[in-house]
Amino acid sequence: MARDLSPVCKKCRREGEKLFLKGERCLSDKCALSRRGAKERSRYSRRASAYSLQLKEKQKLRLMYGMFEGQFRRFFKMAAKRGNPAIGLLLLLERRLDNVVYRIGWAQSRSKARQLVCHGHIAIGGHKVDIPSYLVKAADDIGLRKPDAASAQELAELVDTTRLVSWLSADNSGKKAQITRLPAAEDVAEIPINTQLVVELYSK
Ligand code: SF4
Repeated sequence: MARDLSPVCKKCRREGEKLFLKGERCLSDKCALSRRGAKERSRYSRRASAYSLQLKEKQKLRLMYGMFEGQFRRFFKMAAKRGNPAIGLLLLLERRLDNVVYRIGWAQSRSKARQLVCHGHIAIGGHKVDIPSYLVKAADDIGLRKPDAASAQELAELVDTTRLVSWLSADNSGKKAQITRLPAAEDVAEIPINTQLVVELYSK
């Protein structure tokens, strides 16, 4: 499976915005963009063309979910076939298993969540699923699959319910979760991306 090994913070610097790709670090003073914020942002304050705004918005969304261009475009096509792609794209991205693991709070970032999935730590309905792009369905039971003592302890400490969105529920142990319903338009309203610009870009 292809992996993006380019420096993570460089992606935020390139976009001139925080994309929150490194978990806790993104909220601390160690964030590269907090340290260089004013200087970096000033590079992006120049007047941008419509095309560059569309491209920037698409890149931000793609990088937030840690996807390559081809895979991202496939998700867009899938969303377009189902109706309104501006909302549909976000709904599909939210249903990705790596995103769900991140939302449950078992990983500090989507890239760490992707690692957990790829390393076979996640089960759906009791069966191992190691495909980060797997789309969860309503009523899916998500669990940690036979974690060894060390990783169980590590994961238990990591559980952070502040990201638990309304369409997910977790049990008290924090090691099992369920998709109570599929995400709806109101659930993705807070995602700070103007997906209409992404639609305009891909409609050219
Ligand atoms: Fe981006 Fe997080 Fe790195 Fe800051 S710490 S530049 S938000 S990835």
